Amino acid sequence: MPILSSSCACGRVRCEASGKPIVSIVCYCQDCQEGARRIEALPGAPRFSDADGGTPLLVYRDDRFRCSSGEELLVSHKLKESSPTRRMAASCCNSAMFLKFEPGFWISAYRARFEGDDLPPIEMRNQIQHRRPGTDLPRDAPCYRGFPPRLFAKIISTRAAMLFGW
Ligand SMILES: [Zn+2]
Repeated sequence: MPILSSSCACGRVRCEASGKPIVSIVCYCQDCQEGARRIEALPGAPRFSDADGGTPLLVYRDDRFRCSSGEELLVSHKLKESSPTRRMAASCCNSAMFLKFEPGFWISAYRARFEGDDLPPIEMRNQIQHRRPGTDLPRDAPCYRGFPPRLFAKIISTRAAMLFGW
């Protein structure tokens, strides 16, 4: 299976993803935007969201994504203490690496941190009603208000594959 690597800006934290992602998306939801605003405001933090408010993500099964070095440097950022979503950033250089929604079996890795020119193409843009006003909507992929059934279909079929050991 092809392996994609991601790295924090200073290189101390590295992660690896194997195989095709479940889906490659850009999310414009308010939580993703607020999460980006907070982490990007940390000292020296590199940007991982787009100028129009979108956050590009490569979504992987939990068992196809791992931190290969510097895991102890990861710190969790939550919008609220009770939130089931943690955004993991490298404390060495404040690079956001991935997002974990606790009940889910997937992780959403920030596309901006991946290396190489051959990343999976963007398949959909979600929650576009929250796009920053005055920006042009990119035409590279279908756009949806909210989260489309296509997204849930991909997640459900992935779950079935995992249950059957594929
Ligand atoms: Zn770093």
